[in-house]
Amino acid sequence: MNREPYSKLIFELSRSGRRGYSLPANKFKNECYLPQYLKRESPLGLPEVDEPTLVRHYNNMSTNNFGVDTGFYPLGSCTMKYNPKINEEISRHGGFSSLHPLAPVSATQGALKVYYTLQKALSEIGGMAEFTLNPFAGAHGELTGLMVIRAYHRGRGDEKRTKVIVPDSAHGTNPASAAVAGLEIVEVKSRPDGTVDVDDLRPLLDDSIAAVMMTNPNTLGIFEKNIPEIAKLVHDAGALLYYDGANLNPMLGVARPGDMGFDVMHINLHKTFSTPHGGGGPGSGPVGVRAGLEQYLPNPRVVVRENGTYDVVSEPDALGRVSGWLGNFAVSMRALSYILSLGSAGLMQVGKLATLNANYIKESLKDLYRLPIEGLCKHEFVFDGLADKSTGVTTLNVAKRLLDHGYHAPTIYFPLLFHESLMIEPTETESLETINEFIEVMRKIAREAVENPEVVKAAPHNTPIGHPDDTEAALHPVTAFGQL
Ligand SMILES: *Cc1c(COP(=O)(O)O)cnc(C)c1O
Repeated sequence: MNREPYSKLIFELSRSGRRGYSLPANKFKNECYLPQYLKRESPLGLPEVDEPTLVRHYNNMSTNNFGVDTGFYPLGSCTMKYNPKINEEISRHGGFSSLHPLAPVSATQGALKVYYTLQKALSEIGGMAEFTLNPFAGAHGELTGLMVIRAYHRGRGDEKRTKVIVPDSAHGTNPASAAVAGLEIVEVKSRPDGTVDVDDLRPLLDDSIAAVMMTNPNTLGIFEKNIPEIAKLVHDAGALLYYDGANLNPMLGVARPGDMGFDVMHINLHKTFSTPHGGGGPGSGPVGVRAGLEQYLPNPRVVVRENGTYDVVSEPDALGRVSGWLGNFAVSMRALSYILSLGSAGLMQVGKLATLNANYIKESLKDLYRLPIEGLCKHEFVFDGLADKSTGVTTLNVAKRLLDHGYHAPTIYFPLLFHESLMIEPTETESLETINEFIEVMRKIAREAVENPEVVKAAPHNTPIGHPDDTEAALHPVTAFGQL
């Protein structure tokens, strides 16, 4: 960032009587039927600005933000990749975006076809029998998937399965979703290479276990090679195997969870399938199931009739609704547009490029950053801080120094398996030049940490806010003008 950050408030730009609009004169008498006690006693205090000032204010403010449209965003465990703008445009097409959710199915055949086609495409990609697009997020998908698993056990009259096994390296939403689903969490340990310890898992598998949740590749970016063995152990114990497919990038077109023996899975469309995410934006966490579990998926469903028309139905054994209508339709639109525009040949490149990029960065930096788990990674990997531990420069310092160079910081201090975790995911959409520049900057920071550690420790030097009191900011965030 080469200029001063924009930090004006719209209230500071306000001048009494300024207007950014012109409305016809009010033809009505100012009669008000509200009782006196409901009427405001003082003016509302809205900012009064002309249109150019207003437009510049918001445009300038937006340049304080960092996003994939402004720079490289190597945030591990989150897949912040570039999403083609054409998918945005298609999702906003008036024929779809103006549909009323209560319109009759005869008037929404096109939208239902989008929905149905995406269900089928995701089933093919995941190796599953059926998908629902209803859940609104990854965590919501996990909850829905676990509810399907509960319904399956109940359907067999097996009421005693009240626990879920979750690896210690799992994303925080896994245990949280299990708790919300009313299940008890049992932790299984990782081995030094980051994969699930099968010897630790075996004795945990008894008839109280409803499911085992796995992420493959796991949160360290390591592929779990023991899945066939784990799947057999889990199924022999009468439990089901759940796949957290939030970040499906490395697997796209390379391997399918259904083929590995997973029974239920979710995908984050807002990580892998062309919806930008972060900051609480729109999401979608479709859930897929293997054959034999379809009847438990939530209502409503989109089906195709024999005559080729689409319909929305509710099934008696299903979970009921987990969301309003049919989920986040615009996100489904982007996903289908992405899948169809890439085609199967393009989709098959995604996983390979994401994996290549991650390994290239890892190998280019591992002499200067500590790599706790050697070997091939998938879409992401974790350093344990700088290799030279004598400088006193922490992962937090490195992350903040990256901001000075115009990069978003990687994920830091997660996963919790290492003290100085620095988790990098370049994604498949970055050019070799961008990746090389990032490597250069990471190397420069590592050298700087030795030669001039104070500069790194004092970073960032040119962001609007440099060193907030993290605890105070989390406990008492100032989010409104009046609080300042
Ligand atoms: C992001 C993520 C989730 C949660 O997805 P949300 O849409 O944020 O709820 C779950 N698991 C993994 C591995 C993730 O990366």
